[in-house]
Amino acid sequence: MKRSQYVVIGLGRFGSSLAKELINLGYEVLGIDKDEEAVDEMSDTLTHVVTADSTDEDVLRSLGIRNFDCAIVAIGDDIQASILTAILLKDIGVKTVVTKALSELHGKVLQKIGVDRVIFPERDMGIRVAHQLVSPNLLDYIELSNDYTIVELSVPKRLSGRCLKDLDPRAKYGCSVVAINKKHGVIIAPSAADMLEEQDVMVIIGTNDQIESFESEVI
Ligand code: ADP
Repeated sequence: MKRSQYVVIGLGRFGSSLAKELINLGYEVLGIDKDEEAVDEMSDTLTHVVTADSTDEDVLRSLGIRNFDCAIVAIGDDIQASILTAILLKDIGVKTVVTKALSELHGKVLQKIGVDRVIFPERDMGIRVAHQLVSPNLLDYIELSNDYTIVELSVPKRLSGRCLKDLDPRAKYGCSVVAINKKHGVIIAPSAADMLEEQDVMVIIGTNDQIESFESEVI
């Protein structure tokens, strides 16, 4: 199967970090920035780089951007350029357009013009760090809805040697351990007899309240 090709527009801190990671993951990435210095800095890392203004439709067409599977607009402060670029990319027919938004209003406009995915890196990172500060064992979480969340919690030393039956999260708190990530592999849908060890990671699904009480009483 052909691997997806990405174009990242705006090679500031966010765009360049995203583009580098896509390369690390084995994908081809074209990086575009109107600033020559930003482009030069990425020229040895990305598959192709171009110095260009992405609000110029002729430039986007001549670069064959419509043939890319996904375009990420990572333009920072210039909201007008971000919106214009996103409209042009959708117009040209790029399958998936992902755009970084700086504010809720910017995000709303992007959604209205049909951007496939709007991301709020600063807002989301702020929320993530706050969660990690209040619960130090929290490694990561995904909000499934307003009520339901999946969290990854590291197993503290004092729970080492205990099995899931001892903790009984479903009966006592209503949340379920759906996987245990161990050094030597992942146990999916663990049984009550599965033993926990320090440095294991429990993947738990439940409502925010259920997970919070499990975390505060057990972890
Ligand atoms: P970050 O917070 O991710 O560092 P920046 O605002 O510093 O964001 O970076 C955004 C990048 O987007 C800059 O390198 C800037 O040159 C680039 N950029 C802004 N407008 C355009 C445009 N119209 N075409 C191409 N690149 C652009």
